[in-house]
Amino acid sequence: MRVGLLTSGGDAPGMNACIRAVTRACLYYGMEVIGFHQGYEGLLDDDYEIMKVSSVADIIHRGGTILQTARSARFQTTDGTLDGYEVLKKHGIEALVVIGGDGSLRGALQLYEMTRMPVFGLPGTIDNDLAYTDFTIGFDTAVNTALQAIGNIRDTSSSHGRTTIIEVMGRNCGDIALNAGLAGGAETILIPEKSFNLDDIVKKLQAGLARGKKHSIIIKAEGAGISTDELAAVLGEKLGSETKQVILGYIQRGGSPTARDRILASRTGVRCVELIREGASNAAIGIKGDTIVDYPLAVALAMEKDSHLEFQRICDILL
Ligand code: ATP
Repeated sequence: MRVGLLTSGGDAPGMNACIRAVTRACLYYGMEVIGFHQGYEGLLDDDYEIMKVSSVADIIHRGGTILQTARSARFQTTDGTLDGYEVLKKHGIEALVVIGGDGSLRGALQLYEMTRMPVFGLPGTIDNDLAYTDFTIGFDTAVNTALQAIGNIRDTSSSHGRTTIIEVMGRNCGDIALNAGLAGGAETILIPEKSFNLDDIVKKLQAGLARGKKHSIIIKAEGAGISTDELAAVLGEKLGSETKQVILGYIQRGGSPTARDRILASRTGVRCVELIREGASNAAIGIKGDTIVDYPLAVALAMEKDSHLEFQRICDILL
């Protein structure tokens, strides 16, 4: 049996560990693997390599993706999806494994619904915005990278007695902000899922200053209500002191994956191959509690995320 494999969307630490897991598990079970470069773009361009045991040696600890990744407007069209299917058929591929975020898994579902090609989604994204899994591959590393940065910024904010806004990734999902902010002891966390009142934030910061706090750290997800520039300007004016802003940006995407991300990538990757062997037609694989789970792609992608509510409650008590 021959399996296709690609990484798609934004890269995430742990994608390599997942490529390794899928490849090694396939080879272990006597299946062949064709890795397409640059996501669905590479599939459409028929840009591929035959994956061997040695292709995935020495990559479990590396950030990024050895298959490279891309966004593909072409694949999103009906014709593009059918063109991708033709390439898969040409190679005799009987199942496609896609490692990526919400959009990438929607692309996989579109391929399945249009052609019935068996497709399998593995959650590779730092955003943690897939409701069907508690954690996505790359999220834990991104949180730890943000946490490290918060620690460094806290030192200098403290020395200068500053308020600092740290913007972390998350256009629609505040999980990186909530987790890094909670672990980093931020005073305020702003996320896209929850509206906030600027006056309340100012009052809280003023109360902190009045009781002798040396610094204030605000963690803001990029998609939270207000631009970071505007927030810094408003707070600076209302507090009567300089408010610095630090945008962490792409450093959150890189770096060596944490043990948690490597293990999640390895466990979900192997489960994916076992599902293919069992004859499943399509699935999204993830983790709930400590159990590896799978759902039909359409079911997984229709789920709505609400896990941040519990985190918000803890933050409301502790911050
Ligand atoms: P991340 O959010 O971590 O960057 P992602 O997988 O959500 O990852 P997207 O850019 O949304 O990133 O999607 C990656 C690719 O998946 C798109 O460039 C497109 O080729 C394909 N894709 C996205 N949405 C769809 C869709 N609804 N139908 C078909 N293909 C899609």
